[in-house]
Amino acid sequence: MTEYWKSQARKYCEFCKCWFADNKVSISFHENGKRHKENVQKHISQLSKKSAKEFKQKEKIDDDIKKMEAAAMAAYLKDVKNNADLTSQCINEILSQSGSSEATVVVANMPTSKAPPSWEEVKSEDGSSYYWNTLTNETTWDAPDEYISIAEQEKNKLKEESQEKKKQKIKKQQQKQAQKDVHMEVNAHIAREKMRELAVKKDPEPPKKFFDYGPAPRASKPYGSWTPVVNQPVENVDLQLPKIEKELPPPPVVMQPEIIQFKEKRVESLGDEPVEFKKRKFNNPKRNMRQKTDDE
Ligand SMILES: [Zn+2]
Repeated sequence: MTEYWKSQARKYCEFCKCWFADNKVSISFHENGKRHKENVQKHISQLSKKSAKEFKQKEKIDDDIKKMEAAAMAAYLKDVKNNADLTSQCINEILSQSGSSEATVVVANMPTSKAPPSWEEVKSEDGSSYYWNTLTNETTWDAPDEYISIAEQEKNKLKEESQEKKKQKIKKQQQKQAQKDVHMEVNAHIAREKMRELAVKKDPEPPKKFFDYGPAPRASKPYGSWTPVVNQPVENVDLQLPKIEKELPPPPVVMQPEIIQFKEKRVESLGDEPVEFKKRKFNNPKRNMRQKTDDE
């Protein structure tokens, strides 16, 4: 009877940090145990605490980043105001051209806290005014808390018109500039063409002599003019090789290798005598033994 040791499969509990046998009974026994349940609860509460902490940290970081960005923007605007570098000079130039001040830029960069009222005052045919919601298309006779009166609407209209005019003016200027650019480009092109013509005209003139020393100036065509290549028929050249008068030697006789044919011999029987096998002798002292020689 063979004796052997077999290792039992074991299971590890991550919550309790302990080992137990890996079978249904002991697993259920462990998982229903008071200690295991407590440990699992502890683990879950730790996890939720951890995630809450992380969330808070993230929120704080986001807030800090927002603050930093706001501070950076403020500092940058200050720099722009002081004409610190080329970029800010450019920005100021653009702002002065478009007619808006840096305040509008600040407003544009900051999130708008208050939307304009969506109610507008409208005059009906009989002269009384009612109110129209531009978003929901509602109408009412009662004045809402906030609305744009007719006077304000006219003001806004004027403002928009002036802005539109400004925009058109800028557009016109840009178009003019573009036309100017095209004109300049065309002029430059014409000038270049003229220069090229002049250069071509100048080419055949002989180069001026500046120095008396050095090699003589090269002729314009030192190797003569080009001539077309004509294909001429090639003559058969007599190479005066010795004439062959001897007869050619006969072609060598190819000897076929002799094919050896073996005779077949069949062994019909092993003879009349009975077949015997020699037995091997064990414990033969003569085998594998060093033989004595005469020298010793
Ligand atoms: Zn456990």
